[in-house]
Amino acid sequence: MHDHPHAYTLPGRLLLIIVILLPIVGTWGTIYLLAESLPGGQYPVFLFAAPYLIISPLVLLLGSLALRRLGYCVRKDDMVAIDGEITALLSPAEESAYEGISPSRSTAFCSTCNKEVVIDDHYRCVHCRWPV
Ligand SMILES: [Zn+2]
Repeated sequence: MHDHPHAYTLPGRLLLIIVILLPIVGTWGTIYLLAESLPGGQYPVFLFAAPYLIISPLVLLLGSLALRRLGYCVRKDDMVAIDGEITALLSPAEESAYEGISPSRSTAFCSTCNKEVVIDDHYRCVHCRWPV
């Protein structure tokens, strides 16, 4: 469930891409900029990569918090409360309560889960919380 391949929303994916590219571009850029000014010799790539490898997880963490604060879901299973606050997925107990749903509940095809699923009162798939 938490490792759903499409678990991240567009803003969440953009954030992930930035976090993945940051160390690569940053390391390359640092080496490129310093190549002329450094004294000759061999330098381990890790020396240049280390600062970015430290910064990237922080960017992901702070970026996720900032996006949620701004009202963007980072993951599709983020829940938007009535007051606009976004919280993480249902607890496992609540989840299993949904699983034993009565047949009167409506169903719909969820493109994210790629199957017929039970939907909640807000027309969202009970499995991935994505609107159907
Ligand atoms: Zn679904």
